[in-house]
This record gives sequence, structure tokens and C-alpha cells, in this order.
Amino acid sequence: MSSTLEIRALHVALASSPDKSIVKGLDLTIRTGEVHAIMGPNGTGKSTLSKAIAGHPDYVITSGDVLLDGKSILEMEPDERARAGLFLAFQYPSEIPGVSIANFLRAAVQARMAEGEELDATAYYKRLYAKMDMLKIDRKFTSRSVNEGFSGGEKKRCEILQMAMLEPTFALMDETDSGLDIDALKIVAEGVNTLKSGSLGVLLITHYQRLLNHIVPDYVHVMYDGRIVKSGDKTLALELEAKGYDWVKTDLAAATA
Ligand code: ADP
Ligand code: MG
Repeated sequence: MSSTLEIRALHVALASSPDKSIVKGLDLTIRTGEVHAIMGPNGTGKSTLSKAIAGHPDYVITSGDVLLDGKSILEMEPDERARAGLFLAFQYPSEIPGVSIANFLRAAVQARMAEGEELDATAYYKRLYAKMDMLKIDRKFTSRSVNEGFSGGEKKRCEILQMAMLEPTFALMDETDSGLDIDALKIVAEGVNTLKSGSLGVLLITHYQRLLNHIVPDYVHVMYDGRIVKSGDKTLALELEAKGYDWVKTDLAAATA
């Protein structure tokens, strides 16, 4: 079944200063099986957008709506949004010493189940190993503690595995980590490409053109000053790489002059 995530005329401000919008009327519709990349210079509100959709308490949605299959998610708690099928990268713990990845993922899967329903251990491990095989992750990986002493690539591998286990309908990924090396980028890319074929919708926020060499987006959007100012296909990302963001700003200035 195909699903739709619709962001409608969204305005977002900081909870501490609700009069000042950061996201200023953003419209975007994503369907399952599609990858949408949002690019844009620093400070344009990309992370604010993803955190607001995730329900981060520092941000308030002052107007507009976010609809999952036509139903607003704005009144839902972050964990309800996750159960409804959204995967939001900011919810991940930075480090949990002493908790293995296998046990952490098990708790995460259990938490998504209906009250009173028990996760069967045999079935869980079977599914975990199937997902790891699909993503070409070594079995030894799951006995490591969550994020403890992880490289950027290992953190990404853990995140992608979690995403594979939770089988979300839509994933919001904000690739802000400037420390991501090419291996980490490739892990993200391979994971997204693999999961996308199983009808996942992805909103990928990045300022790395490099990442888009590995994940071929169906749509590329340029965000500037809280809005999407330009949309296109993957060639737009190449154009941005060649011309930089000033080109978009100049275009915009000409259009509004
Ligand atoms: P991007 O991800 O596109 O670089 P952000 O969403 O992080 O942009 O930030 C957009 C603007 O909002 C910036 O001016 C930033 O300083 C401000 N901002 C975002 N989050 C916070 C916060 N928690 N506290 C103060 N200012 C913030
Ligand atoms: Mg950001």
C-alpha cells in the first residue's frame, strides 16, 4: 500500500521565541518509494524542519500541518509518530555503555508493538539476522555496545540497522555530521538504497552533494530562508555543486525584484 507524507504551509519557530519563524511556509509531499533530498546553505532551517516534524520540544509549529495519509500528526507525541511509521534520526541515543546493539534494537522493536504483545526471541533474532544479511552487516556487530567508541561509519550502520528493523513508512534523515567520511556516507547510501526498494519514503537533508552521488534522489529541493525555493530532479544537485548556492539567491532576487 502506498502512503503519503504531506507538509503543508509549515511555519516553525523556536519554543523560546515563537514570534520569529525559522521555517516560513514550506510545502512538500513525499510518497513511499521516493527519495527527496533537501539541500541548502547553513542556517536556512533544514534541521529545524526535521526536528519540528519529529516533535522536538524546542520547536513549535505555529501554523500549517504535517499529514500522514491525510491524518495530522501534530497532536501526536514523538513515540506515537514513530509508531505511526515515521523514523526520525534525532531520537537516537548517543551512547549507551553496556547495552548491546542486539538488546537495544530488541527494546526498540518491542516499544513499537501494541500493549500486551510480546516479542518472540527466536523470531526477533531471525529477523535481525535477515536484515543484517540484507545490509551486509557482520554478525559480530550486534554484540557491541550502542555507539560506544563507534566510528562515524559504525554509528551510521547502527542507525540504518535500526531503521531496517523498525520498517518505517517514512524516514527523515538529517545528515548534519560534518565529520562523516566517505565510508560513512556510503553506508548511509547503501542502506537507503536497499530500504527504498521495500517502499520506504525518504526525506534526506544534506549539504553534501557527495552523498547524492551514492543515493540517487527522485527529487531535489533547495531550501533557502525557511522555504523551498527551487525543486528539480537529480540534475539540480549537480547544478548546485557546479554553481553554488549564490546562484539560487541571485535567481530569487531577480524573481522578486
Ligand atoms: P540548517 O540546518 O539549515 O543549517 P537550522 O535549522 O539549524 O539550519 O537553523 C536555522 C536558524 O535557526 C539558524 O539561524 C539557527 O541559529 C536558528 N536555530 C535553530 N535551532 C535553534 C536553537 N535550538 N536555538 C537557537 N537558535 C536556533
Ligand atoms: Mg542543519
